[in-house]
Amino acid sequence: MQALEHTYHQEWDTITIFTDSKSAIQAITNFKWDASAYIPGIIRHITNFKASGTKVRLFWIPGHAGIAGNMVADHLANLRRTEKDGSILKNVYSVPEKIREIINDHKQQMLQRIKATTTNLAVTSRHSMGILPWHTHSVRPIQSALIRLRSGHSKLNGTISKWDMDTQPNCPHGCTETENASHVLLQCPTYSTAREELKQTLEKLKYPMDVPTLTGINCSIAKHSQKKIAQKLIVFLIESKLLERI
Ligand SMILES: [Zn+2]
Repeated sequence: MQALEHTYHQEWDTITIFTDSKSAIQAITNFKWDASAYIPGIIRHITNFKASGTKVRLFWIPGHAGIAGNMVADHLANLRRTEKDGSILKNVYSVPEKIREIINDHKQQMLQRIKATTTNLAVTSRHSMGILPWHTHSVRPIQSALIRLRSGHSKLNGTISKWDMDTQPNCPHGCTETENASHVLLQCPTYSTAREELKQTLEKLKYPMDVPTLTGINCSIAKHSQKKIAQKLIVFLIESKLLERI
């Protein structure tokens, strides 16, 4: 019931509910309104979803026995869907595989929806949902700096000046350019010595020295290279003392 209410204001093509209660599934699929106090509400939610074109699928998973095993697959294979045509779910995968597939479907749907709302490369270059390992760091100031660089919402003058009239957007080291991620990572001569190792690493890996590559949002780069770039970026941020500014 709560799961349904959570999804109620989101637009999904398909909603999949896993429950370990067979009696609940039976009550819902057979419209047994009086089976429990929750059933009428659940049936009403599902009916509303179906009326608005959203498919609702109910799956039974065993409560305490884990979710592996052929017995469960057989149960699933015989489980009727809630659709009116009464079509039978043909379960060719094992249950964990099926669950993974459904979860991945949902994640892809969610990603496509989020992508459609933005031109931010940090989002549009993503192939999958979830946390990318090279975006994370166990040291909090480093983690914050990585997030700020990726999002563009840093504490650099270029950002601060947008809401603080006393701050000029220019680089404080005498450059005429706006102080933003691109300036401090790529251009500012103040950090050229600290930047050298980062530059060489990218040359060796044959990737361009640009903000998406450095901040790990160019998702066409392989994982092991992403990690190397992130490591060198962190060294640069520490050596240049930019960590305290970003
Ligand atoms: Zn500068």
